[in-house]
Amino acid sequence: MATERTLSIIKPDATRRNLTGKINAKFEDAGLRIVAQKRIQLTKAQAGEFYKVHAERPFYDELCEFMASAPVVVQVLEGEGAIAKNREVMGATNPADAAEGTVRADFAESVGENSVHGSDAPDTAADEISFFFSGLELVG
Ligand code: ADP
Repeated sequence: MATERTLSIIKPDATRRNLTGKINAKFEDAGLRIVAQKRIQLTKAQAGEFYKVHAERPFYDELCEFMASAPVVVQVLEGEGAIAKNREVMGATNPADAAEGTVRADFAESVGENSVHGSDAPDTAADEISFFFSGLELVG
């Protein structure tokens, strides 16, 4: 399998509860390398731009409010099959359905406030990485 990069976000419910290190440990234990990382505060408009694919969904406004409610940690994870591997480590969107030991099973508070975001395909990973990081910030 090829080495890939994927965009990960540690969401406000998790930064608020000081869980960045515990979540990063799960990524690293799974063989993912954190090759770029920064803690930022999104505006609601920036969150809306990032999640614009969900603009028609009933939870869009709530999601944008939530993503701007506290700092997030945006990061680039690298590894073999990193996109699928990260989705595995994250667990299902709804923590009630998430497999044991996944980030969402252990930490998520609800289907909306579910601790992490991860890109779902190579094209979205490339777009989402460039949304937050310049080439100069990706040193491997
Ligand atoms: P994932 O983050 O697992 O890829 P989606 O792309 O379906 O899931 O949804 C994006 C984000 O929107 C979710 O992670 C969650 O924060 C929020 N979300 C999804 N479904 C709901 C819902 N039914 N109610 C509230 N928020 C939701």
